[in-house]
Amino acid sequence: MIANYHTHTFRCNHASGTEEEYVRNAIDRGIKVLGFSDHSPYIFEGDHYSYFRMRPELLEDYVSSVLALREKYKYEIEIHLGVEIEYYPKYLPETLKMLREYPIEYLILGQHFVGNEIGEPYCGRASDSEELLERYVDQCIEALRTGMFTYLAHPDLLLFVGDDDIYCKHMQRLCAAAKELDMPLELNLLGLKDGRNYPNELFWEIAAAEGCKAILGCDAHSPEALSDIIVEKKARALAEKVGIEIIDTVELKKF
Ligand SMILES: [Zn+2]
Ligand SMILES: [Zn+2]
Repeated sequence: MIANYHTHTFRCNHASGTEEEYVRNAIDRGIKVLGFSDHSPYIFEGDHYSYFRMRPELLEDYVSSVLALREKYKYEIEIHLGVEIEYYPKYLPETLKMLREYPIEYLILGQHFVGNEIGEPYCGRASDSEELLERYVDQCIEALRTGMFTYLAHPDLLLFVGDDDIYCKHMQRLCAAAKELDMPLELNLLGLKDGRNYPNELFWEIAAAEGCKAILGCDAHSPEALSDIIVEKKARALAEKVGIEIIDTVELKKF
């Protein structure tokens, strides 16, 4: 692995270690390009705050600590500054305004909730609702069509426990859109390591059949995640099994 664009920090309340430990582990592994993409703060209405993301007040510190490491390690590794963010149509414009005040280079789409999050179910919770699956897919496609996102993180996050035919019908639409837009889909190493519902082999069969491209993402929530070469081997084996091409680097899209 020469590039990883999916790296968190402690500010999201569910990651550990210091940023510098992530950087050092990445260098030791031989990673050449390391992107930080912590869970973006979001400007919601009222006092809603989702605990799995950085608070807006922490954004400045996040940015300055990543930039300081970029400078410190500039001869050893190329560091990029991004965020992982959901597409919530109602609140995204204000949130983007905030993000654009900083030298943030890229967004990866991680659609953890549908709608605008508030009052909606977490996408990783088991459901046999075709309506939820359809909304998830529609929302991801709408997001990808904005051209703002560098790639789609864990596209198979949604845990659908209904009929495979229904799952295929909708995920095929998502993969067809990704192919059309030349949008890389992330094969998520955290999910693989933890034995989560993603990576979902059926999803990756669909993605391969549609001619999509995959990018490996550590989704590192601890520095050790950047040293795990066993999970990388497993991911490559899965990609080979379903017949999908893995790309090593992506082009960072402006937003
Ligand atoms: Zn996370
Ligand atoms: Zn993530």
